[in-house]
Amino acid sequence: MREDLLREAEAQTQEAQRRNEETLRQRREEVSARYPDIRELLERRQDLIYGSISGMLRGKAPAADLPRAMEEASGEIREALQRRGLPGDYLSPVYDCPLCQDTGFVGETVKARCECVRKRYQNLLRQAIGLRDDGAETFASFRSDVFPDETAPGEQRSQRQTMERLRALCEEWANKYPRQVPRDMVLSGKSGLGKTFLLHAMANRLIEREIPVLLISAYSFVDTARRSWYGQEDGLRELLESEVLMIDDLGIEPLVPNVTIEQLFNLINQRQRAGLATVISTNLNAEELKSRYTERIASRLTDGRICGFIPLRGRDIRNGRM
Ligand SMILES: [Zn+2]
Repeated sequence: MREDLLREAEAQTQEAQRRNEETLRQRREEVSARYPDIRELLERRQDLIYGSISGMLRGKAPAADLPRAMEEASGEIREALQRRGLPGDYLSPVYDCPLCQDTGFVGETVKARCECVRKRYQNLLRQAIGLRDDGAETFASFRSDVFPDETAPGEQRSQRQTMERLRALCEEWANKYPRQVPRDMVLSGKSGLGKTFLLHAMANRLIEREIPVLLISAYSFVDTARRSWYGQEDGLRELLESEVLMIDDLGIEPLVPNVTIEQLFNLINQRQRAGLATVISTNLNAEELKSRYTERIASRLTDGRICGFIPLRGRDIRNGRM
């Protein structure tokens, strides 16, 4: 987990708690000022609690009918609010997350981080790596029905069937990680075939599984590589060390002399040696990878034992509904 983002997710949860407490305080103030009878009902209910506490402090057992009396008092408040055209729960506590009541933790004796903090963390991580923060790019929302279902002469499957298979392959990879085989993956195909969507769906699945993933465009890779070549900053370290690295759109970035090919080779080679998974989407096929990036890079991306090379073929569906 990225500690900085986890701290931020916890801070957001505390902020929600503070904001909701403030909302409730303002509502009580506003209603008390406007409706003296409701103010009285609120005070009476408060007295029930104080009475019980001070009784307990003097060694008295809490009145057996206290829960019933509290319930009655709350019922009267609810009715009084509704008579004024306000919602019956207008003066009840407000929570973003009823599960943990915005404390960020659940569990009586053993405290565990609440689902809402994990959701906030995941959204922050999506933002940080450039995914849509609503997490909408998922395998479930991958639309294979935008691809034609006719089987061309000589082909075994229609484009739709092929895309469904590829979707299943990518999903299996993301579900099985870190036991996926092969370790690396290249999605190769022309623009508009859904490879970036699949890449993002894989990233989202890993994020849901709380696996650290870094997603960059090939363009920003070259920018980072160029800066570290000139000694301006060492941004490459993060790319070398990230548990899972995804590079989108390899092939459209500029070929900067001494930088693009050399640093790409270093990156892929070092990650493969360290056993770290890399997933790449590219508009180039295997031959084109070889002629643009040299044999030694291409061979590492097409060696089926460590890298699954997945060709996407067919009609461009960018004008479709995906
Ligand atoms: Zn919660």
